[in-house]
Parts: sequence; structure tokens; C-alpha cells
Amino acid sequence: MKKVSIIGGGFAGLSAACYAAKAGHEVTVFEQNETLGGRARYFTESGFTFDMGPSWYWMPDAFERFFNDFGKKASDFYELKLLDPGFQMFFGEGEIIPVPANRDALREMFEGIEKGSASKLDSFLAEGAFKYSIGMQNLAHKPALSWLEFARLDVISGALRSNVFSSMKTYVRRFFKDPRLAAIMEFPVLFLGAKPSNIPALYSLMNYAALELGTFYPMGGMYKIVDGMTSVARSQGVSFVNNCRVEKITAGAHTATNLKTNRGSYAFDALIASGDYHHIEQQLLDDKYRNYSNGYWDKRVMAPSSLIFYMGVSKKIKKLIHHNLFFDRDFDTHAAEIYDHPQWPKSPLFYVCCPSKTDPSVAPEGMENLFVLIPIAPGLEDTPEMRDRYYRIVMMRMEKECGDTIHEHVVFKRSYCVNDFLNDYNAFKGNAYGLANTLSQTAVLKPSVRNKKLRNLFYAGQLTVPGPGVPPALISGKIAAQQALNFLNL
Ligand SMILES: Cc1cc2nc3c(=O)[nH]c(=O)nc-3n(C[C@H](O)[C@H](O)[C@H](O)COP(=O)(O)OP(=O)(O)OC[C@H]3O[C@@H](n4cnc5c(N)ncnc54)[C@H](O)[C@@H]3O)c2cc1C
Repeated sequence: MKKVSIIGGGFAGLSAACYAAKAGHEVTVFEQNETLGGRARYFTESGFTFDMGPSWYWMPDAFERFFNDFGKKASDFYELKLLDPGFQMFFGEGEIIPVPANRDALREMFEGIEKGSASKLDSFLAEGAFKYSIGMQNLAHKPALSWLEFARLDVISGALRSNVFSSMKTYVRRFFKDPRLAAIMEFPVLFLGAKPSNIPALYSLMNYAALELGTFYPMGGMYKIVDGMTSVARSQGVSFVNNCRVEKITAGAHTATNLKTNRGSYAFDALIASGDYHHIEQQLLDDKYRNYSNGYWDKRVMAPSSLIFYMGVSKKIKKLIHHNLFFDRDFDTHAAEIYDHPQWPKSPLFYVCCPSKTDPSVAPEGMENLFVLIPIAPGLEDTPEMRDRYYRIVMMRMEKECGDTIHEHVVFKRSYCVNDFLNDYNAFKGNAYGLANTLSQTAVLKPSVRNKKLRNLFYAGQLTVPGPGVPPALISGKIAAQQALNFLNL
């Protein structure tokens, strides 16, 4: 039995811990925050329970696969509800388009907007299904240490058939002309953090996930997933040290040896670092042990940061459903303000999650729980005045589009932005979703899962393979654990 230390108790760290412990090792997770879950933590206030980060439960098979690896099922830990409509989009002037979960209803909705688009939707989703099987069931599981891993003929031809070299923007417009249908197809790439013109069309697998596999919600909140994973970890014998900030990784000639923390020093045989990759390398490791320089990081395209408002509202808001996307302003202008000329957006798009529409446990009776998110460029100056300004903007637009008074019924409000991502997660430039999945930051071109100078240091999390999102974080933990186990078995 060897000692495996894990930095970070988010999804990637929890996943890595479970796999390493299952192989029989003594595993300890060091988490700087009081609670586990990383970006998916939660808090309660005045009878409301707020999930702090992820809210879209997509790709249920990825969660199932994780739990199955430990002889469990997701339903052992939470009840999943299929949301129907999966989400709705506000296009301004009172136009709201709900996106049904059922394929026939979805075809009808598409056909009603653009003649001939129902059959195009069928082809689009059929290609999406193929990409999903190649992308999520094959490519995403590779450690991406060498292009040779991708050299099998079926993988290469699969990747080419998956349009890795054309952009999501061009691809979507080959099928749909109506800007509203294009917006419905392009919004999931917000999670991948790049403009649709810079994201490979392989990622239309996200549309397949959203529109065909379905949008789910774990009753009780997204934190139920964290609880389930923590329970698996404990059953495998994993120990947790919370409120424990790793301040330095010390190393000998070719191996990392100790974690220096605010709660003492800990020795290990292998280390999996799942905190923000940039922080681990640039702040915890001596220069000579780093994989990448500051110059390298300065050239990375980061996924967006976010300005978030958690709000408790003392009434029901009729027009909202569980997931609401406010696309009543120009997408390209907002995207350019995130990626091309980073600045606070003049007229942002935003997302409103209202889980109290599905789950009575997250708000007192007769009230709503709101999570409002504006994607913004990472690294922007984050001040209380700016947060207030955007609160007023989104509140005005929400009230107008919903035809309802909301502001005067807000009984609780908390904001969260760049400075919080920096303080709570050591996030590079205060990013929310890690590294953008552009073609030049894909697979082998992502920060490596292995430290090239220290044989027993491995990386997990949203800045390495396979990328941002909860399902990828689960896979990332598994990949890193497999690398650590290979090392320990040498
Ligand atoms: C607002 C928001 C909304 C999102 N929405 C969705 C969604 O709807 N669906 C989806 O699938 N994904 C979504 N995502 C993305 C998803 O949440 C993340 O990709 C995923 O949670 C990342 O997990 P992780 O383990 O890689 O990183 P983290 O969650 O950041 O975990 C890393 C952990 O390491 C700890 N740590 C860092 N440094 C140290 C240190 N020095 N010492 C000790 N501990 C340390 C941190 O405190 C943290 O707990 C969203 C993310 C955000 C922020």
C-alpha cells in the first residue's frame, strides 16, 4: 500500500481519490475550503439552498459509469428528473422559445421556425450521436501524452468524420439559417468557453447531449453528486483534510516528496494535483520543476469567468422555467467582448437558473431560488460598483422579459465574480470554466496530465484533458489516477 495525496476536493480530485483508493492505496485529499465540491459547492441562507456553480446535468451515462465503477448507481445517491422543456430562450420583445425534451415535439418546434429544418435536425443529431460516441466514449478517455494514442485508423477517420477541422459556427449554419435556431445550437459552447467560430464542430456532441440525451436535475441540487462521490470515496477508505491549503510541493531529484500546508507537512509516494493547473505549477512548484513558463500561460485562451448573482425572491415568477437563456441581445458582440477585446460587456447575454421550479427543497414555499450568470472575460477588474451596475442591467431585462416585478421582492442577494474565483479556487485570471476547448488547445496540445520532471506528480481537473465540465472532470480524475497507478506499479 502506497500513500497517494490529492490536492483539491472538486469533482476531478474526488474522482481521482476514488480510483486510487480502489486500487488499494492510502489516499488523502487536501482541500483548502471548508467543504468539498470545488466549484460545485453550495450554501444555505434564509431557507434557500444555492448551488454555487454547475447547474446543467448533461451526459447521465458519464455519471453512471463513474458510480458503476464502484458497484453503485447514481440512483443510490439521488433522484434524477428529466426537465421538459429542457430549457427556454428569451429572444426579446416577449418572444420565448421553449426547447422540448421529446424529439417529435422538438422537430415540430424547429419546423415551425424554419421550413425543412426538422429533417436537418435529424441529420444534425445523427452526426452528434456519432461524435458523442467518438468524443466522450473514446477521445476523452485518452491521457493525450502522445499523438500515437490517436493513431488508430478508426479514431482518425472518426475524428475527421467529426469535423474537427471546421468550426461550430460554420457547421451549424450548414444546417440552419434562422438565427434563433443557430443560437439554440451554439449556446452550449458557452460551457466550452470560446466563440463558435473557434470551437471545432466536434463539439456539436454537446447538442446531442442537450437535445437527445436530455437535461436532468438531481433532486436536492447539484451538490447531491458531490455527496454521492464523497460517500463512495469514504467507502473506499479515502481520508479528507479540509481547511488545508497546500502552500508548497517539495521535491528531490526526480520525485515530489512532501506537501507543505497550513496544517503541517505530509509525505506521499504519488501526488495528483487537481487544483487550477496554473496555480499548482506557478505557485506551488519551484521554477525548475514546472512544465510550463509564464509566457506559455499568457498565450493560453481561457474560458470565461462569470459574474453570478444568487437571489432569493419572495414570490413565484410565472415566465421562468428551470433553465432560461436571455439571448435578447447580440451574441457576437458579447462574445467579442469576452474573447477579442476583453472588457465588461455593454449589453450582455445571461443565464437564469430557477431550480425552485423543479425542487421545493431549495426555497421556502411560494418563493423562487435564482442563479443569474453573465459570462465575462477572465481577468477583468472586479469592483462592487461594477457588480451593482450589472445587477441593475440583468434585473431590468429580466423584469421586462418576464413582465413581472422582481427587484422589490428580492429577500436575499449575494454576488460572486473574478475575485471570488481567485480567492476560493486560485483560479488563473479568475476563470470559471478553465481552458477554452479551441483546436490548438485540444488533446496533446492541452497542459499535460504528467509532470515531465517529477515522475510521481500528475495533474487532473478542468485545465488538463479532457477539459471543462463536470463529466470531463470525472474522466480527468480517472485518467490521472491511472497514470499514478502505472507509476506506483513500476
Ligand atoms: C459558475 C459555473 C457554472 C458551471 N456550470 C456547469 C454546468 O452547468 N455543467 C457542467 O457540467 N459544468 C459546469 N461548470 C464547470 C464545472 O463545474 C467544472 O468544470 C468542474 O466543477 C471543475 O472541477 P475540478 O475538480 O477540475 O476543479 P475545482 O472544482 O476548481 O476543484 C479544485 C479544488 O482544488 C482546491 N484547491 C486549489 N488550490 C488548492 C491548494 N493550494 N490547496 C488545497 N486545495 C486547493 C480548490 O479549492 C477546489 O476545491 C460550471 C463552472 C462554474 C464555475
